[in-house]
Amino acid sequence: MMKAMMWEGRDALRLVDVPVPECKPGWLLLKVMSAGVCATDAHIIHGTFFNGEPPHVLGHEIAGEVVQVGDPSLAAWIGRRVVVETAIGCGVCEHCRSGNKHLCAQGGEIGFPPYAGGYAQYVAVPYTCAHVLPDTMTYDEGGILEAIACPVGAIRRIGLAFGQTVLVQGVGIAGLSFLQAVRACCAGKVIATITRESKRDLALRYGADVVVNVAAEDWHARVLAETEGRGVDLSIDAAGAPQSIADAVTLCAARGRVLLYGLPNEQSLPPFPVTRIIMKQLTVLGLTNNELGWAPLLSMVARGDINVRDMVTHRFSLAQLPQAIELVSRRPDDLIKAVVHPWA
Ligand SMILES: [Zn+2]
Ligand SMILES: [Zn+2]
Repeated sequence: MMKAMMWEGRDALRLVDVPVPECKPGWLLLKVMSAGVCATDAHIIHGTFFNGEPPHVLGHEIAGEVVQVGDPSLAAWIGRRVVVETAIGCGVCEHCRSGNKHLCAQGGEIGFPPYAGGYAQYVAVPYTCAHVLPDTMTYDEGGILEAIACPVGAIRRIGLAFGQTVLVQGVGIAGLSFLQAVRACCAGKVIATITRESKRDLALRYGADVVVNVAAEDWHARVLAETEGRGVDLSIDAAGAPQSIADAVTLCAARGRVLLYGLPNEQSLPPFPVTRIIMKQLTVLGLTNNELGWAPLLSMVARGDINVRDMVTHRFSLAQLPQAIELVSRRPDDLIKAVVHPWA
């Protein structure tokens, strides 16, 4: 048996004893050492986002040690420290074979029904989802890597040429990851937006050259002034607000690219600025994750090009997951990312 935090319904979490997950052929059993607490889980628990029915063990940001394998061919995995890339695909369709198994029609994801997740002492995952952690990386860095892998994979997909200007709206974990990723990719001037002055230092520390407070200045004029009146070559929305999505298009230079990453509230979808997109000949891409971003990301973190360690700002035991969810929902200024330690 093991301890797991069971999501039982709206705002209902309970620490329970459940059987250790079965480790099928092709799968690994991990002792979970760190699990990132994602805002998506908070939405699911609060009933504001739907992705399967309770009861279920959530948690899709996972790092741990392999303690058992489902068949002898995987014996070499025993004892490895790994981080989990949670998308599960059929392995044979075009999406699966092009690094996009999260788009697989037969697919699913560890941490969402029917696949039990990382808010537990053990989790079972296909070996194809496991990436070995470099020795220099901690389990906590692995535990939040999924939140960074998605933005980094998005930059890998949309591309960035040497010296191009970038706007990043939003300085949550995604925004900070975008800042570091474009910096590592040799961006030119990088402009970040904040809505609270208390976030300015953070944006500067994670790679912004210019930080504009959208609540305190005529910030469109400022972005244009910083880009010789052109707008930016790559305009990233990591905020997901109706206004920020429209602004991402407005502030993109002609023939530039817009990367939409922040998910808007379905109830307040922004008007689609189609005329601007056409007349300025913009490329607009919606991006989530891409498994091919993981290996380069692990190398970048190991080399120190991307700092993950400082993004882990809060640590909780498994029993404290409700407090962690409350924290993530409240989003205090000092929160970047919280993790739970199931063995603490
Ligand atoms: Zn997540
Ligand atoms: Zn597939």
